[in-house]
Amino acid sequence: MSDCLVCRAAKVESFLDLGVVPLANALLEAKPATAESEARYPLQVGYCHECHAVQLLHLVAPEELFSNYFYESSFSDAFVQHSKRYADDLKQRFDLGKDSFVVEVASNDGYLLKNFVAAGVPCLGVEPAQNIAVKANAAGVPTLAKFFSPETAAEVLADKGAADVLIGNNVLAHVPELVPFLEGVRSLLKEDGVAVFEFPWLREFMRHLEFDTVYHEHVYYFSLHAVAKAAELAGLELFDVQEQKVHGGSLRVFLQKPGARSKTSDVERVRQLERSEGLAGPEVFRQMGQRVRVMREQLVELLAGLKKQGKSIVAYGASAKGSTLLNYCGLGADVIDYIVDRSTVKQGRFAPGVHLPIYPVEKLLEDKPDYALLLAWNFADEIRQQQRGYEQIGGRFIHPVPEPRILADVVGEAETTA
Ligand code: ZN
Repeated sequence: MSDCLVCRAAKVESFLDLGVVPLANALLEAKPATAESEARYPLQVGYCHECHAVQLLHLVAPEELFSNYFYESSFSDAFVQHSKRYADDLKQRFDLGKDSFVVEVASNDGYLLKNFVAAGVPCLGVEPAQNIAVKANAAGVPTLAKFFSPETAAEVLADKGAADVLIGNNVLAHVPELVPFLEGVRSLLKEDGVAVFEFPWLREFMRHLEFDTVYHEHVYYFSLHAVAKAAELAGLELFDVQEQKVHGGSLRVFLQKPGARSKTSDVERVRQLERSEGLAGPEVFRQMGQRVRVMREQLVELLAGLKKQGKSIVAYGASAKGSTLLNYCGLGADVIDYIVDRSTVKQGRFAPGVHLPIYPVEKLLEDKPDYALLLAWNFADEIRQQQRGYEQIGGRFIHPVPEPRILADVVGEAETTA
């Protein structure tokens, strides 16, 4: 067993080995001359028997990860709405006003904090990407261009004072040094201050067999059990939890200095739910590893069968998920002709590891390949709506998980509202 990144116990059991693969976001300008010229790293996931943290077993240095950082500037309307409601909820619940102070870690371009600025609540963003911090400041959201750490926390504390609320969305899963990070959070909070974190929930990862959301940028896959334990190790207490629909199922947790408020009944309810689904023990993880291996065999077999019949196969969606799936299943140019993607930034490049070229989605109708493997299967309904023409001329999508299957029926009118 390996050492745990969170609690340091040598109790991490590996359950999912996705091979030695390139960074999932490292799209290539050109095909590399040799396979060796592309950096590869082991991608393996384990479960800690001591603190329940599901984590990567091998970390890649942040400099290497962030050199490939790919900023998506456009947020969907649904996400903008979610952020507005989020800010309103916090303002109301914790009675935030002109004498309060709100900090957001990894605040991006100020998409959330601008709601506090508009309401006259003093706030500060902490955002490691320099170019994005500049954008936020220009848009009127005060932002410090730094990684959040205990040192950054001390700097903010000295400069601006303690925070009433500290927010972190989709940041915890990216912080290898989790306990020191949370200690920094604690040091910046007022005595009755609150830290609020939102992250994708491990329950969804398990339910939908989302092994392809594993890549080197995601160090952790959190359950409530694991986050509560990490908070405790940093001298914080988890006192509330809310389930969120955003990003296909997330948890929002509320942390405080111990005893500042009583715990809500939702904490025990969600813990109980996790226990009943086995997320507080190793067995479901071993089963998941087995299911993923079976899925790979079935998918490889299905595609090989189609190739034997002389069918043409392409893939849809050059996302990080797609990279994990293609590399894990070893699906290269001998099986798949190319990938199509709507993003103009990705078109003309090559997928990492498998080196498939990426083209605009219009190529589906031009070439009429027999099958298109859905790499972005989490958007299956949306993609089928957009690409109805492809199915109408006889093209078929292949949905890879949990069991690979060919989607036979063209999406009907009734589903167009998605
Ligand atoms: Zn642990």
